[in-house]
Amino acid sequence: MTIQIITLFPEMFEGVLNSSMLWKAQKENLVKYKLINLRDFGIGPRQQVDDIPYGGGDGMVLRPEPLFEAVEQAKKTDPDAKILLMTPRGNLFTQELAREYAATEAGLIIICGRYEGYDERITTLVDKQVSVGEYVLTGGELPAMIIADAVTRLVPGVLGGETSAELESFSQSGVIEHPHYTRPEEYRGLKVPDVLLSGHHAEINKWRNANQK
Ligand code: SAM
Repeated sequence: MTIQIITLFPEMFEGVLNSSMLWKAQKENLVKYKLINLRDFGIGPRQQVDDIPYGGGDGMVLRPEPLFEAVEQAKKTDPDAKILLMTPRGNLFTQELAREYAATEAGLIIICGRYEGYDERITTLVDKQVSVGEYVLTGGELPAMIIADAVTRLVPGVLGGETSAELESFSQSGVIEHPHYTRPEEYRGLKVPDVLLSGHHAEINKWRNANQK
């Protein structure tokens, strides 16, 4: 799977894409990330990507030409990729959606908005408008990282224990996984529940089920 991200700030992704599971996924050729700098499609000698909004108002809006051209370039790499637009106007991103994207053969093209947003005409190219929550971020980069992370870890072969994604939070309609404890058995007077030390698997499972949300 290839995840292509259209952004004005590709440098923001360095740490996230090159650490831990996402790094491992690339190393093992399970997922490929491609950062597309929207500035490369900017207009004129100043490579302008934004302009003032029609109708007046504060802030700048991403112009359609760089956005369309960046998407068209990404499509050349991966014609079947699904195009996601990061926007507070979108559908809430969920584990179910992450599963759906990880399971399809198609890659993703993620468009990161900035400033006041993007020219609405870009939505004609988009498969899904996606929000990561009911708050406003400065740009679509953090939402894009959230999606890249949540999808990558569900791509078959990425997680060490193949079953761990099936058991974790949100894998069964909205259920949140039980709490975890590790060594030491007691820390600052805080004790690990006895049942987890008992070695009694049926009782441990009962405790875990009872402590799901
Ligand atoms: N003027 C917009 C509004 O009031 O809805 C907010 C624009 S925001 C400052 C700039 C960009 O950040 C958005 O176009 C979008 O790409 C991204 N963004 C901000 N919050 C987001 C969220 N909750 N989910 C997804 N993308 C978000």
